[in-house]
Amino acid sequence: MREIIKLACIGCEHPGKSAYFTTKNKKTSKEKLVVRKYCKFCRKHVEHKETKV
Ligand SMILES: [Zn+2]
Repeated sequence: MREIIKLACIGCEHPGKSAYFTTKNKKTSKEKLVVRKYCKFCRKHVEHKETKV
């Protein structure tokens, strides 16, 4: 079963301002997802960490 997860910028003062949504298979990936994505608030590529939706 694929679960919807939220990737929130870890560089922002208020986490969750810049967020990307994706899905993942909970059974195959138990590790927390960390993806480098562009944050328009930080104006650079920042790591986005998995958080609860
Ligand atoms: Zn940011």
